[in-house]
Amino acid sequence: MSNVFPRVLDRDLPLVARGEGAVVWDAEGRRYIDGAGGAIVVGVGHGRTGVVAAMSRQAGRVAYAHPTAFSSEALESYAEELAPLLPMDEPRIYPVSGGSEAVETAIKLARAYHLARGESSRHVVIGRTGSYHGNTLGALDASGREPLRRPYEPWLGRFRHVSAAYEYRCELASHPEGCGAALADALDAAIREEGPDKVAGFIAEPVGGATLGAAVPPDDYWPAVRDVCTRHGVLLIADEVMTGFGRTGAWFGCDHWGLRPDIVTAGKGVSSGYWPLGFAACTGEVFDTVRPAGFVHGFTYSHSAVGAAVARTVLAILKDEHLVEASRDKGELLRKELATALDDHPAVGDVRGLGLMVGVELVRDRATREPFPRAERLTERVVAAAKERGLLLYSSTGCADGTDGDLVMFGPPFVITELQVTEAVQIAAEAIDACV
Ligand code: PLP
Repeated sequence: MSNVFPRVLDRDLPLVARGEGAVVWDAEGRRYIDGAGGAIVVGVGHGRTGVVAAMSRQAGRVAYAHPTAFSSEALESYAEELAPLLPMDEPRIYPVSGGSEAVETAIKLARAYHLARGESSRHVVIGRTGSYHGNTLGALDASGREPLRRPYEPWLGRFRHVSAAYEYRCELASHPEGCGAALADALDAAIREEGPDKVAGFIAEPVGGATLGAAVPPDDYWPAVRDVCTRHGVLLIADEVMTGFGRTGAWFGCDHWGLRPDIVTAGKGVSSGYWPLGFAACTGEVFDTVRPAGFVHGFTYSHSAVGAAVARTVLAILKDEHLVEASRDKGELLRKELATALDDHPAVGDVRGLGLMVGVELVRDRATREPFPRAERLTERVVAAAKERGLLLYSSTGCADGTDGDLVMFGPPFVITELQVTEAVQIAAEAIDACV
């Protein structure tokens, strides 16, 4: 009997043994293409000895020092090297242990900013339906992912939500024209209804991630949303936990539209899985505003020197090996091959994404886009069938209406080879065929 309380309770898990590039092996010697980089985490690939050496060097010098007592050379250097890449002016970076903590930090920072300006009534955060920002209670409340919210609804409800940009299921009369502007108008209306003096921030993923499976917004969306937030003095929080660090073929998802948010959150690809790490970064203007009164917040493991040493090496690898460009180019290849293999498949409704963040939405009827009923557990069966055949995929359910809707996602390491892309597509097609 195991003493582990596992992440999933409906099946036994193999033991992972090792990883190399875009491949992992279990303890029985079975090989899997890591088609999802775990949970769309691993960018630079598995088995990077340089990252391990940096981690070990820093831990050997000093592994832990309390963030209220010390900064570290590793963290100061990392922040300096990262700053020019972030989509904001004079960024200040607050490192934490993962994406959910990054979002909690961002939300509190937005509140701290308004308090420091004497606008103490501003406390409401507006998120989007069809979004995911994490599983801690604040981040979950900002999220619009029904299956994860449902058991905890009695603890949620402080935040409100507007529609995400979800072009595949867009119901606007003018679609596909003017969707971005119309969605921004809806945000404007929600802020007015709430009372602009009550709204602290608007949080959204630049490209819809875990809930909507790489849903790319129309080009008029982000400029219009930025404008609405600026007009109402609402801080714009771009949640780049999934989209950051090259995942969409640009350094940050915001870069595709020249978006300049007030706060950015990151996680996953920051450390490529080598260390539990995330951060919230804010503009110099937000930092300077908050600084005199201080920021009431903090975690034991924030500002980790070892985490910074890891992230610094990951950043260097991304730059030196041109992996952001690799994500862009291999993402195009992946989408092209998926389209060729799956476009005629009766259950494949949409193949979408940017860079190596790619979603495949499965539907019962391509013409009406009717989803499969949840009871059929199609996503789970496809993911299991792919794993059985040696491919790891990321999954999500509920995209269509909060309950029904089946998605599988690709988000492999950027070092995946072209041959492995072809192999992954072939296995995914076989897995879908085996299930519908
Ligand atoms: N924000 C986004 C956009 C995410 O995709 C995720 C995780 O999938 C999170 C936040 C939460 O990150 P974590 O699981 O590291 O807490």
